Amino acid sequence: MVNVDAWKEISAELAKDNVTLVAVSKTKPVSDIQELYDLGQRDFGENYVQELEEKQPQLPADIRWHYIGHLQSNKVKYIAPYTYMIHAVDSFKLLQEINKQAAKHNHTIKVLLQLHIADEETKHGMDEAAVLELLDYYEAQRADLQHIQICGVMGMATFTDDTEKVRAEFKRLHNFFVYLRQTHFIADGNFTTISMGMSGDYKLAVEEGSTMVRIGSLLFGHRDYTNG
Ligand SMILES: *Cc1c(COP(=O)(O)O)cnc(C)c1O
Repeated sequence: MVNVDAWKEISAELAKDNVTLVAVSKTKPVSDIQELYDLGQRDFGENYVQELEEKQPQLPADIRWHYIGHLQSNKVKYIAPYTYMIHAVDSFKLLQEINKQAAKHNHTIKVLLQLHIADEETKHGMDEAAVLELLDYYEAQRADLQHIQICGVMGMATFTDDTEKVRAEFKRLHNFFVYLRQTHFIADGNFTTISMGMSGDYKLAVEEGSTMVRIGSLLFGHRDYTNG
């Protein structure tokens, strides 16, 4: 069940700060997505390739699909024809594969570099040194990477009630984004996105400079994985 009131409230609140709302629709039916689309929502986030593959053809073509989950290189080909932005790039190999598959469809896919900012072992992403190494490769091979556009960074904070800890993790991601913009993307007007903040911590994320939040359960209700 879509929470229409929550969507109206959150989207109005975010619009004031120029923050993009990505509605995370994983595990939710196409009817829920269509309902928010009809209200004006255009950015939707999915985590599973097969699920996105099933949903995308059933929904309006002008939806901007954000792939926000961990992505294996061998699966990029399935989502490349229609994906707008891939949030969780964590290796140069994946970046190259996205470029290769986007080229086949003669378009450009926007990507974010995923930073590991949380304490938890299970969360994917790179540390700062790995991002700088990736950017060295990127800059050396830039002429061959015309079908990707690096638009910023993405991160997930630790799942905890300790708001000061979460705030510190968001701050760190924001600071690193500013550093990258000043060093590697100074002449690049596309490098503008900090994707951070979910249902539980998006207000903190916005306070710390987020430009894009990924919100699922507040809009669509809790996810039930037991029914697939
Ligand atoms: C599921 C998911 C979200 C949304 O989580 P909620 O807590 O339901 O808002 C955001 N980002 C990523 C990467 C996710 O996997």
